[in-house]
Amino acid sequence: MEDWKRILAESVTKPQELADHLGVDPKEIEDVVKAYPMRITPTVLALIKERGDAIWKQVVPDPVELEDREAPDDPLGEEPDSPVPHLVHRYPDRVLLMVTNQCPIYCRFCTRKRLVGKPGFLKKGELDQAIAYLQAHPEVRDVILSGGDPLLLPDHLIERILKALRTIPHIELIRFGTRVPGALPQRITPALCEMLKKYHPIYMNLHFNHPDELTPEVREACGRLADAGVPLGAQTVLLKGVNDDPDTMKRLMHALLATRVKPYYLYQADLTKGTNHFRTSVETGMHIIQALQGHTSGMAVPHFVIDAPGGGGKIPILPNEYLLHLDETGAVLKNYENKTYHYPQPESSRTRELPMVGIPLTGGWCGHEPE
Ligand SMILES: *Cc1c(COP(=O)(O)O)cnc(C)c1O
Repeated sequence: MEDWKRILAESVTKPQELADHLGVDPKEIEDVVKAYPMRITPTVLALIKERGDAIWKQVVPDPVELEDREAPDDPLGEEPDSPVPHLVHRYPDRVLLMVTNQCPIYCRFCTRKRLVGKPGFLKKGELDQAIAYLQAHPEVRDVILSGGDPLLLPDHLIERILKALRTIPHIELIRFGTRVPGALPQRITPALCEMLKKYHPIYMNLHFNHPDELTPEVREACGRLADAGVPLGAQTVLLKGVNDDPDTMKRLMHALLATRVKPYYLYQADLTKGTNHFRTSVETGMHIIQALQGHTSGMAVPHFVIDAPGGGGKIPILPNEYLLHLDETGAVLKNYENKTYHYPQPESSRTRELPMVGIPLTGGWCGHEPE
């Protein structure tokens, strides 16, 4: 057996095993685990330092998950957007293909809590159906392999999917959405990297929520992917008690960049049933972005988005701070230090003459040109 399969099999999945390792009362979580599976890999288990810390909250089942009865199972409305099994086609030019229900760890805040952990992966006939759909839809240029976690499939099944997708000329990009490098770094084998290289351009968005997740072993796994030419992005979920403060988030973004991973999205937590105890206010995320923008490398600032309930897709949220006023004469802007600046419009878009009057200014402005 390959090393990573053996290590995955050593994960904590039963209440009694969790009791043995972390001293929780197994009865407290038995019903939760029946409703929503648990899996904690040895790598992630080793990161838990104390009850209720940022890693614990993400992976240890909590009875409050069962108290949440009102929220929807499928808040993003993925099922109505699914033309063939396992495929979600919401945006004009890109699709999600869910290739397995298995994950290395079962995040307690998972958006697809209704699905994950159930046995099953994309079967041969279902792959054929997805490929036939994509062949018939030349507008699709970007396929995102998701799940579950696509990197839990064995190499030969990943390769079967990649090979099939690469028979379709209009598919430009193939992306993976995965938590494997952070949760099961042993899975990122040289053989996997060699295989992926044959199907470029392959991109990966890695799921990380807390700076402690970037251990030396995890950094090496990310390095192997980067060395194989796979551009790495990060997706982070804003989670109460895990990363909902500017300092933790800044440390996470810096640790990601140091790992050659570019922060991509910061998600407002979804409404999914069983996960509402993780939600923060929308202002929390806006405040975090404001604390990053201008104060640290622009590379470290992800897009803050809300995946609109009911299937509206990802909608970017920017702090309302930066554009104070805009009209045909110009824009009044505020920078990260609360200083105000004016950017004039080009002559051609002006319908009335300067000087500007009646523009609300919150402070003095200076006419700096951009450098
Ligand atoms: C997130 C998502 C995508 C990809 O969106 P990008 O903004 O291109 O990263 C595609 N389809 C669905 C259904 C998604 O949720």
